Amino acid sequence: MSGIREMNFWWNHNLRQIRGLMEPQPGISFDNTEIAFGYKSKGELRKSYYLFRLIGNPGFVSFGKFATNLAINLHIPIGWAIKGNIFKQFCGGENIAECARATKILDQFHIGTILDYSVEGKDSEADFDRTRDETLQTIKTAHGNPHIPFSVFKVTGLARFELLEKVNAKEKLTDAEIAEWQRVRSRVDDICALAHDTDTPLFIDAEDSWIQDAIDQLTDEMMEKYNKEKAIVYNTLQMYRHDRLEYLKVSHQRAIHRGYFIGLKLVRGAYMEKERARAAEKNYRDPIQPDKASCDKDFDAAVDYCIEHIDRISICAGTHNENSSMRLAKMMDEKKIARNDKRVYFAQLFGMSDHISFNLANAGYNVAKYVPYGPIKEVVPYLIRRAQENTSVKGQTGRELSLILKEMKRRGM
Ligand SMILES: Cc1cc2nc3c(=O)[nH]c(=O)nc-3n(C[C@H](O)[C@H](O)[C@H](O)COP(=O)(O)OP(=O)(O)OC[C@H]3O[C@@H](n4cnc5c(N)ncnc54)[C@H](O)[C@@H]3O)c2cc1C
Repeated sequence: MSGIREMNFWWNHNLRQIRGLMEPQPGISFDNTEIAFGYKSKGELRKSYYLFRLIGNPGFVSFGKFATNLAINLHIPIGWAIKGNIFKQFCGGENIAECARATKILDQFHIGTILDYSVEGKDSEADFDRTRDETLQTIKTAHGNPHIPFSVFKVTGLARFELLEKVNAKEKLTDAEIAEWQRVRSRVDDICALAHDTDTPLFIDAEDSWIQDAIDQLTDEMMEKYNKEKAIVYNTLQMYRHDRLEYLKVSHQRAIHRGYFIGLKLVRGAYMEKERARAAEKNYRDPIQPDKASCDKDFDAAVDYCIEHIDRISICAGTHNENSSMRLAKMMDEKKIARNDKRVYFAQLFGMSDHISFNLANAGYNVAKYVPYGPIKEVVPYLIRRAQENTSVKGQTGRELSLILKEMKRRGM
């Protein structure tokens, strides 16, 4: 019976792929703001416009950061001020249930949700267990739900940063630390095991370079254990690091040698200033590429390498870069990889780069958005980072704002 079911699955899967290749492929452009903002009413569009205008002002963002942190430290309730504005733009809700609204909207436009529990900076064992339980809950929510194609977690949500630093530096651990590290490994294993058992692909985010070897080591072990039939556990490669292209090739060889599949989320990397500052302060070679062009070149080269080895490597391009997204989309068509082939995904953050997400999804590519969630007070650091990312450089109108303006004009607003 199970043999027949497997054959049916194989046949349906391949039929879908063949159909995907034979049907005429609609062209793709990121300029279409009608598609990009089709899910927003006029009122919502206007609200986003005012929000991006506000966070485009560097003075406002600096003051907002100071005032919000002060209010939190003084226990002044500020949730009401944040929830309907910046929180609604960039987050799905305060808990998984509240994210259902975002998932439903995204799903109407064939975009998947990645529930991202975005609580940061915790450091007690109870907090780490809580984050593990919350991540397990996201996997259970994703199980059997085609609208949630991936789950995700950060190792720093499950482990003390100083412990990761010590493991990374291969320093000798005390007996208590050995036990603590064992608890970290079990939390990671619990999450990956459930992802495997429920057939829910799982991203492990990349973090600071001085803890990343420890994360890579854990992730490689999990890939070897749970990716025997296909990519379930995905590592993340930050292509702003000059050593990651080589690391990709080594990981690939290791997977061939040991007989497992690789999942990779390719990103440029989020912590450049911190990385450069630490390298300068501690006087070691800067792990970051010398310039943006080198970073872009390696990002493209990594995408090329993964596509060339798509038989073993599944990828997700986690990027808001239009050129990188368009390049991968075109490459898939050229190489006759079906646009809905599950081994290739595009991902962006909720509330950002809708022109990329919605236009790619509209053209039939696999797209998913990180939908961060958590109690408002706890996700403030995430929101501050999003605001800073959208702060204008020398008064220029940011990309998000220009796109919203374009769509408002098109709707005659
Ligand atoms: C779905 C998703 C998941 C993500 N997951 C992670 C993660 O796990 N870990 C993580 O670190 N980040 C992650 N990020 C963030 C990501 O790394 C980038 O910070 C962000 O997406 C901006 O890069 P970009 O490719 O979108 O586009 P761009 O705007 O083209 O590139 C900006 C990026 O280029 C790099 N860069 C800029 N200037 C220079 C320079 N002078 N020299 C070298 N490099 C430079 C930096 O990485 C900078 O962030 C994720 C992003 C997305 C969308």
